[in-house]
Amino acid sequence: MAKIVLVLYPDPISGYPPVYARDGVPVVPGYPGGQSLPSPSALDFTPGELVGCVSGALGLRTFLEQAGHQLVVTSDKDGPDSEFERELPDADIVISQPFWPAYLTAERIAKAPRLKLAITAGIGSDHVDLDAAIARGITVAEITYSNSISVAEHAVMQILALVRNFVPSHRWVVDGGWNIADCAARAYDLEGMDVGVMAAGRIGQALLRRLAPFAVNLHYTDTRRLPEAVERELNVTFHPDVHSLVRAVDVLSIHAPLHPQTYHLFDDKLLASMRRGSYIVNTARAEICVRDAIVAALQSGQLAGYAGDVWYPQPPPADHPWRTMPHHAMTPHVSGTTLSAQARYAAGTREILEDWFAGRPIREEYLIVAGGQLAGTGKESYTAGAGKASDGQR
Ligand code: NAD
Repeated sequence: MAKIVLVLYPDPISGYPPVYARDGVPVVPGYPGGQSLPSPSALDFTPGELVGCVSGALGLRTFLEQAGHQLVVTSDKDGPDSEFERELPDADIVISQPFWPAYLTAERIAKAPRLKLAITAGIGSDHVDLDAAIARGITVAEITYSNSISVAEHAVMQILALVRNFVPSHRWVVDGGWNIADCAARAYDLEGMDVGVMAAGRIGQALLRRLAPFAVNLHYTDTRRLPEAVERELNVTFHPDVHSLVRAVDVLSIHAPLHPQTYHLFDDKLLASMRRGSYIVNTARAEICVRDAIVAALQSGQLAGYAGDVWYPQPPPADHPWRTMPHHAMTPHVSGTTLSAQARYAAGTREILEDWFAGRPIREEYLIVAGGQLAGTGKESYTAGAGKASDGQR
């Protein structure tokens, strides 16, 4: 029998379960490109329920406890005295979500001799030290595609929020004002702008498809070029590298994984090479950008706006400068944990666990690390053994 440590974000301060705004979530038929939805043998929750917090336990409690496994669910994840760190020494499986990441550093992996499987309930496994997982033969898996569309929708929203100056305009209403000129002085149409994505994987491509009807000029870069037919269909211009891309756009949306090639890519120098008044939306990972370089570029006017939902560390301290920098439209890390997305990644987590306990292979597309090397999606999107990938990892 296995011991599973599940690290999830805390319950709503208003109590659990919440009063739901709607009575359910639509069932989508599948993912773009034909990948099928998660297919566990059963579900012990109703799609649309809040399962990503501690009381929700990803809907896994009955399934795991009836099979005789030990389940520990906690949100106490940081520091040597945290419950997560106390439970690690005899944990067989760790599950956490990028929104409330249980940082599985090399040091923590060394303290977990029984650990064999680390599941990311969501997408993006940079909170796990992949080199250490490779060295120890730990399998790392995530629920590929589960929240890709959710994130693409959030990026569309934040691009529009920045370009159209939504947040300050909303604030004038709440404050009792009607200051049209103050709102309009920083508001533009997206139509006609050059819009680029840094990485056109599942999320980046979904964003390109959603932005095409806005009559913008689309651009992208990716280490793997899209098929010619897709470039033609989307009328999107390929750039061989990020340097060429950022010079050509007014709006840039970041969708690459965090790994040594992308760590701190957006520094003072790269930001200075962008058009004055560019907008950046980053729903990928915070450490792709240099924190203080973003603040300085907003203060100087080099950037007209920055938005996204990813921070470092998570949760960020109360005095994190991104909370108060000018012209931002940040949210907490929520784009991929809508109730719609939770239903899919909770089901995918259960599918992985069912396969693992039955000794069946985990779907190739869910794999990041397996058999002591990058595997599946991990092989396509990450690099290993190339040095620093995160302030939290080494
Ligand atoms: P994906 O694997 O489908 O696509 C990633 C793409 O990045 C690939 O096409 C890959 O070739 C490209 N890439 C990798 N390194 C690159 C580099 N140095 N330069 C250019 N391109 C590079 O992944 P996805 O599902 O589109 O997700 C992308 C990232 O978004 C995830 O790794 C994760 O960090 C983040 N994400 C965030 C949330 C959220 O809630 N904010 C949710 C899901 C995923």
